[in-house]
Amino acid sequence: MKQKLYDIIIIGGGPAGMTAAIYGHRENLDVLLITKDIGGQIKRKSVEIENYPGLGKISGKSLIEKFEEHLKEFKVPVVLDKAVKIKKTGKVFFVSTGDKKQFKGLSVIVASGADPRPLEVTGEKELIGRGVSYCVTCDGMLYKDRITAVVGGGNAGFEAGIFLSRLAKQVYILEYGPKVRADKTNQQIVKKTQKIKVITNADLKEIKGKNFVDTIIYQDNITKKAKTLKVDGVFIEIGSIPATGFVKGLVDFNKRDEIKVNPQTGETKIFGLFAAGDITDNKYKQIVVAAGDGARCALSASRYLQNII
Ligand SMILES: Cc1cc2nc3c(=O)[nH]c(=O)nc-3n(C[C@H](O)[C@H](O)[C@H](O)COP(=O)(O)OP(=O)(O)OC[C@H]3O[C@@H](n4cnc5c(N)ncnc54)[C@H](O)[C@@H]3O)c2cc1C
Repeated sequence: MKQKLYDIIIIGGGPAGMTAAIYGHRENLDVLLITKDIGGQIKRKSVEIENYPGLGKISGKSLIEKFEEHLKEFKVPVVLDKAVKIKKTGKVFFVSTGDKKQFKGLSVIVASGADPRPLEVTGEKELIGRGVSYCVTCDGMLYKDRITAVVGGGNAGFEAGIFLSRLAKQVYILEYGPKVRADKTNQQIVKKTQKIKVITNADLKEIKGKNFVDTIIYQDNITKKAKTLKVDGVFIEIGSIPATGFVKGLVDFNKRDEIKVNPQTGETKIFGLFAAGDITDNKYKQIVVAAGDGARCALSASRYLQNII
């Protein structure tokens, strides 16, 4: 039997991939969604969302169910599998999966997301959503007049600290090494912000709290002594792990291993291969941004198909 040739193969069933599938279908294209799971990060981490327009406060699980219901209305075929390789021969992309299947498409949208890099310290996992957060834009507002710590002395950590200092009573920024890695501009802003205290040589060992975070314990890397800080929240800003293994060698990456895209179209350097959401070098990692990216890529793929067919 002749193998079906899809117009668009989308890889990843998070907000970016599902929105791309909805938009692809609405462009009257033959779409296939290949994903390891439906929902992505917000479903896996069971979080409360307060910044998705039009829905007020909603759990990540309920929000993603709404995306899923919408997708089901359009009967877009979904294959629950892991993409392991993409190859382009002539105009056709071949996507191989972990279950040793191969799918053919005229265009591909990579929306395989990323996971925040965990610290892997005692108490971290148990207190996610109860004082431990990986996203200051998402949860910063909850810490008005409270005490917070940010782990990570790079730009992400400093930007998180600056954001929090507009709300929180006190912000600690903990850096493992002897020097912070944030750029000079961020360092100067932090210096002027009296509410922020930067602690270098700080190796966070434990996050404690019965129902919510109340204390963190770090080791001073010079004196080797354990120190305690009373905090209400801990933001972990030590980078993320993008799911890009299957496009290595095909597209360009930035130094964080994120796919470089044209911000207007979502195009990568390979014609017909687009990328959307947290997997890309877009600065802001948010659901609404990922969904917007998905829409942009599906519309770009549609224009691309008009030109090649
Ligand atoms: C704890 C936490 C709280 C957050 N809170 C908020 C919030 O309040 N508001 C907000 O706007 N944002 C929040 N975010 C950020 C938000 O979750 C992300 O910006 C968003 O999920 C990105 O969507 P995405 O579709 O790009 O990627 P993801 O959600 O990561 O989805 C990627 C999908 O690709 C699949 N996949 C990965 N690799 C492969 C492969 N090889 N083959 C096939 N499928 C694959 C995954 O299984 C998944 O389904 C939060 C994130 C975390 C971790």
